[in-house]
Amino acid sequence: MKTVTVVGASLAGLYAARELRAQGFDGRLVVVGAEPHHPYDRPPLSKGFLTGDCAEPQLALSDTEEAAQLDAEWILGTRARALDARGRTVVLDNGRTPASDGVVIATGAFARRLPGPALTGVHTLRTLDDARALRRDLIHGPRRVVVIGGGFIGAETASSCVSLGHDVTVVEAAPLPLATQLGAEMASVCAALHARGGARLLTGVEVAALRGAGPTTLGGGAVTAVELSDGRLLPADVVVVGIGAAPNTGWLTGSPLALDDGVLCDEGCVTTLPQVVAVGDVARVGGFRAEHWTSATEQPRVAVRNLLARRTVETARPLPYFWSDQYGSRLQFAGRRREGDTVRVVEGSPDASDGDGFLAVYERAGRTTAILALDRTRLFTKARRALMAAAATDREAERERDEEGEREAEREREAERQAEYREDAARAS
Ligand SMILES: Cc1cc2nc3c(=O)[nH]c(=O)nc-3n(C[C@H](O)[C@H](O)[C@H](O)COP(=O)(O)OP(=O)(O)OC[C@H]3O[C@@H](n4cnc5c(N)ncnc54)[C@H](O)[C@@H]3O)c2cc1C
Repeated sequence: MKTVTVVGASLAGLYAARELRAQGFDGRLVVVGAEPHHPYDRPPLSKGFLTGDCAEPQLALSDTEEAAQLDAEWILGTRARALDARGRTVVLDNGRTPASDGVVIATGAFARRLPGPALTGVHTLRTLDDARALRRDLIHGPRRVVVIGGGFIGAETASSCVSLGHDVTVVEAAPLPLATQLGAEMASVCAALHARGGARLLTGVEVAALRGAGPTTLGGGAVTAVELSDGRLLPADVVVVGIGAAPNTGWLTGSPLALDDGVLCDEGCVTTLPQVVAVGDVARVGGFRAEHWTSATEQPRVAVRNLLARRTVETARPLPYFWSDQYGSRLQFAGRRREGDTVRVVEGSPDASDGDGFLAVYERAGRTTAILALDRTRLFTKARRALMAAAATDREAERERDEEGEREAEREREAERQAEYREDAARAS
């Protein structure tokens, strides 16, 4: 391959660029990013960056020395607009069209917004620019902050706002936040962290509208309150909309790639075109799309190997893992929990009031499917390692079963060929 274009200059894009060089690609490497910034880390944006514990330079994922080693052409502040029918030309919104032998799609996800006119004081939190704008609104004295959505980013933002001394209310439409990810029992443990930390949590109620006053250049004025579907009005100076993210696939509409809640890939991150792979938050790998830091850093190795081989020579099903820091506690989760799994606390106590943390395991048919820990980092790391080893053994057994199945099928085909041969021979004699 002479030219590879990586679209998306963030975590997964940077890791893909590193892998390309590490795996021997010595051709032209182009990295295109919609944001004007070099790759930076997003997890601190809702945590230390908001609270002021993490300064902007600390967000950088790379440095000038590495940039020189990667020898890549960075085209920043420029959006890819399309991918041609053969998956070889990326069309940029500055009119350039880098022709490529291989393309890595790493365009991540964008924060969902609420409909309605733009109001000052209303924020989403996905990018550095989002975080800068929110931080600017949070440095002026105690404010009434309403966080819409009690997912991980909502909870972390609420926690950061509490620690800055603001009055914080979290509004969650579901009966319990995080129930889809953690199951009802453990989700209620996490929900209790809000009360422990000093934020109000309102559940089972939707936002009907955002109220604003005084027109501004944005059109809708400054936010004054959040109106709930049950008629309540929450006065607000700052609103953070944390209602999830959606994959950045709009630019691929009309390309031959299959899109459905992400770019569809096989388990080797290869799309429907062998010279195009997808990684990170935008990629739906083997039917599963993760929005976790660790997936974005693990997928590029396999994706790049397959890209350079021009076919899937390696698959990877890394065990999903994420962490979240809220109200001074660290939450960690690994594995694939499904509806109906039972959950068992094996260490500590989930009672938020004792603050000692716990480790819980999710089980199905006597086997561990996932693990969750609160403030039990060492134990969690051990349990995660064991879960990864068990998953690797299962995969090996599955591979052996597949190979044996293939051998058995070949034996049957051979037996049929022999039988046909004998019949032909009998007819001929
Ligand atoms: C506030 C916040 C806190 C988080 N905290 C945690 C955490 O505690 N733990 C955890 O596991 N994960 C966390 N995450 C998730 C983690 O940061 C993501 O999984 C990770 O950033 C995904 O990396 P990515 O490169 O796939 O996508 P992104 O980081 O979204 O990067 C995609 C890049 O592609 C660019 N792009 C989009 N479209 C185009 C286009 N058409 N042309 C060119 N460029 C384009 C975007 O501008 C962006 O720069 C957090 C995320 C956020 C936002």
